[in-house]
Amino acid sequence: MIVVIKPGTSRPLIDEVIAEVQKLGYDPRPIFGTEQTVVAALGDERTHQNLESLDALPQVEKVLRVQKRHKLVARQAHPENSVIDVDGVKIGGGKVVIMAGPCSVESEEQLLTTARAVKAAGATILRGGAYKPRTSPYEFQGLGKEGLALLQVARRETGLKIITEVLSEAHVEHVAASADILQVGARNAQNFALLIECAKSGKPVLLKRGLCERIDEWLCAAEYLLAHGNPNVMFCERGIRTFETYTRNTLDLSAIAIIKQESHLPIIIDPSQGCGRADLVRAMCKGAVAMGADGLLIEVHPNPAEALSDGAQQLDPRGFEQLMGELGPFAAATGRTV
Ligand code: PEP
Ligand code: MN
Repeated sequence: MIVVIKPGTSRPLIDEVIAEVQKLGYDPRPIFGTEQTVVAALGDERTHQNLESLDALPQVEKVLRVQKRHKLVARQAHPENSVIDVDGVKIGGGKVVIMAGPCSVESEEQLLTTARAVKAAGATILRGGAYKPRTSPYEFQGLGKEGLALLQVARRETGLKIITEVLSEAHVEHVAASADILQVGARNAQNFALLIECAKSGKPVLLKRGLCERIDEWLCAAEYLLAHGNPNVMFCERGIRTFETYTRNTLDLSAIAIIKQESHLPIIIDPSQGCGRADLVRAMCKGAVAMGADGLLIEVHPNPAEALSDGAQQLDPRGFEQLMGELGPFAAATGRTV
């Protein structure tokens, strides 16, 4: 860390800062300039007490962090891409993984019709929310345990792996018993107690980006999962809040390139929450795959007009099949297949 001292500070007050830096376990290296002095504090910021509290001293102008706060998720820690093996389905390797299914599990017929259709078109993982994070308490909240049971029926019939959202710490155990991947939603992206429980479950975790979450915060949230013993983590960009109103969110495709630079973990793109518009899903999927996204999480419903949640953004099975038929060249552009 670097402690910047205010211009014109007397030597005894500079020495006071140097002494504080030393007291906190760092090796202080002052650099005396003609106008201003800075004190470089050498030492590992992740194992020493934070120096940001020195901002409280009146002679300190600011304290600058040099090291990043995440370590295990960083590409430096693991230069090769991590490949997550979900019971035989590999995420992060040479094949773009397609996760598709309804926003919410609504009924056996709705789920099985969708599962059969997405499997026939090439998906390997079935999505479907049994517990739904809804803005209003009067909106459909999901079928809960009944929805989890239907997901198991769909898995048995189709062989698709299951991804479903875990809304609360209290649900981790029974959701993990029914799911192959736990989805941590945007509204829970920094619920650290939930992340720790998900880590302990041992199941792969798909970590959505929060509604207003910066990438450094997202990396730190993933760090919680790895720091608590779960290396099987994938990022999922699902759009962030901006001033734009043409789309529900602004799908930040730059996150693909940034996560690939910063981390060894896979990144999945969710164009459905990302745009909130079914008519944009194909274009966003093609762009994401061409940029190197490791997978897509796409909402598909047999009859989107009757969906109990997120109708406007769900593809129907025919639209999904068409999209799947078009992705090949975009995967090939990055040396992969779909
Ligand atoms: C969803 O996948 O249906 C969902 C609620 O996602 P998010 O947490 O990204 O809003
Ligand atoms: Mn949804």
